[in-house]
Amino acid sequence: MSTFVTHDYHFHSTLSACCHDECMRPETVLAHAAEHGFEEICLTDHLWDPDVPGASSWYRPQGIRHVRSALPLPRHERVRFFFGCETEYCGGGKLGLSRAHFDEFDFVVIPTTHMHMRGFVRPEAVVTEAQMVELYVDRLEELVRLDLPWNKVGIAHLTCNLLFKEGDVGAILRQLDEARLLRVFDRLARTGAGIELNASSLAGWQADPDTWLRPYRLAKRAGCRFYSASDAHVLENLGQIAAVIPGVVAALALTERDRYRIPCD
Ligand SMILES: [Zn+2]
Ligand SMILES: [Zn+2]
Repeated sequence: MSTFVTHDYHFHSTLSACCHDECMRPETVLAHAAEHGFEEICLTDHLWDPDVPGASSWYRPQGIRHVRSALPLPRHERVRFFFGCETEYCGGGKLGLSRAHFDEFDFVVIPTTHMHMRGFVRPEAVVTEAQMVELYVDRLEELVRLDLPWNKVGIAHLTCNLLFKEGDVGAILRQLDEARLLRVFDRLARTGAGIELNASSLAGWQADPDTWLRPYRLAKRAGCRFYSASDAHVLENLGQIAAVIPGVVAALALTERDRYRIPCD
């Protein structure tokens, strides 16, 4: 089995405010993983560190103590279960997890595309397609300049509909500046960060492969490594890895050498 269908580094439990499926508990997900031949999974509930000022009202209840209430994670002899989180990057250096608290997690997923959070992630003044194209690359350029333990960071869903819900996401993806993106990915490759292949966000990639795979093709050219993610909020979506990822991996011609792995000590 391809290395890209035997791990899932991004899914949510009911500790995330947007996850309402009672089946999404660590025990159930682990049992599903063991049954379907997974070797590594990572729980990544939404998180805002109380030590970082400026949480939105949605994020505020999802602090470190809250997400750590999932610990200790259940164990299985064939499946390694990592403990991670999905935090937020809001621009201006404002990251929802303080540098000092990275140690509390095996893996930290950082999205730059939650642009539906207007007035928090996306400035109210950004309304046009052209502005969004700029903001997309600006955010990545800012983010990669931060001093972080990058080898335990994954860049979440670079292509997703949340990016521009009211408009044409494909148009944004096609207009992103290639040279600037290559510089961002070059830096991510050198720091050892992972690039996420998000099965939920990529579910419709085959309708327009050149558009939806564009950022990943550039990331691969720069030498980045990739990991798979279901981003499941309901149990049945854990199956998105098997349904979506093999086609994406084949289209990108990824091999074992291109696989990002969560560091373990
Ligand atoms: Zn997300
Ligand atoms: Zn998520």
